[in-house]
Amino acid sequence: MNSLSENVDLAGGRLTIDLGALADNWRLLNQLSGASECSAVVKADAYGIGIEQAVPTLWKAGCRTFFVALPGEGVRVRKAAPDAIIYVLAGYLPRTFEIYRDHALRPVINDEINAWIEASGENNFPYAIQLETGMNRLGMPISDFEALRKSGLIASHQPDLVISHLACADTPDHPLNEQQRAEFQKIVDRYACKYTSLANSAGIFLGPDYHNDLVRPGIALYGGAAADEHLQNNPMRPVICVEARILQVKSVLPGASVGYGGVETIRPSDRPDGRERILATLSAGYSDGYLRSAGSSDKQPGACAAWRGVRVPLIGRVSMDLVTVDMTDHPDIDQLMGDKWQDEWIELIGPTVPLDEVACSAGTIGYELLTSLGTRYHRTYINDL
Ligand SMILES: *Cc1c(COP(=O)(O)O)cnc(C)c1O
Repeated sequence: MNSLSENVDLAGGRLTIDLGALADNWRLLNQLSGASECSAVVKADAYGIGIEQAVPTLWKAGCRTFFVALPGEGVRVRKAAPDAIIYVLAGYLPRTFEIYRDHALRPVINDEINAWIEASGENNFPYAIQLETGMNRLGMPISDFEALRKSGLIASHQPDLVISHLACADTPDHPLNEQQRAEFQKIVDRYACKYTSLANSAGIFLGPDYHNDLVRPGIALYGGAAADEHLQNNPMRPVICVEARILQVKSVLPGASVGYGGVETIRPSDRPDGRERILATLSAGYSDGYLRSAGSSDKQPGACAAWRGVRVPLIGRVSMDLVTVDMTDHPDIDQLMGDKWQDEWIELIGPTVPLDEVACSAGTIGYELLTSLGTRYHRTYINDL
């Protein structure tokens, strides 16, 4: 965080992160996954909300196992939760053994088993293996795993966890879910793997067959939609609220256009007192991770924002630092007139305009929007345990 974003009076945008909602989301997922252990995936700075704040909260809620993408993230988790179990999904990177050892990080091995066992020596440092069951992204091919078992290399150095990852869990009817589950189960049964994990957030909602010994939710912890059906009806609590300061309120006549490219033209207003429309220009833009593709044009509406719980449409393109919304039809519009708009903030993402709705308007998913939130926001963490 830079010093500019520490004083809210200097900030154009503010980001409020509800740690109580994060804890509640973990508790709900923990409950839904029954007897399985519920871990937390906190890669990419806990999906953008901040490892240093998210991890202690999750620990207090009862979470004991954390997954990160990279060893550097694991070092940060170790500081935030000294007694946690920490897995590194990237596996074991060359020349980094001391980092894993000194911070007790456990690699999730895909292909580097020889290097890891050699580096560990007699110490039997804990690690996991990820099996390839159909996603074809990261994971050890089953044939390699079988050869490894036969070779005896890991006979005295068994993995502490065996995982695989579902490619299509957000689409419950996709045949790959059951295929991957069956393939994974066959192998872990055959080799009597003692601690196994398959489900991400969406996998938890596929039901107990997918829960194994441990589940690995990410997005649902942060309030994002895990499954397609959550786009309409999300059981998770929203964790982030993004607001942008109003910088100017102006009246614009029909026929004029708004913003770069002049891609959106002002339509006549229904207001009794004039044909003009009333626009508010806000202090946030694509450099804050409010994606340019969320903008609006004559051809296609963009995202919505909200003020006092009432939605208002974006108008025109999203600029680097600015975005414009059409306030004309807001019931409290009179309370923005004169200089009354000063010190007013407009919700861009939050309780009225959900993360996944904005993501959808921008042609992407909640994950990308969350992990893109820029560094200029004034951040406030509320409701810590
Ligand atoms: C990111 C990730 C998760 C978490 O996925 P969500 O969809 O965010 O719940 C779980 N497992 C692995 C291997 C991952 O890479």
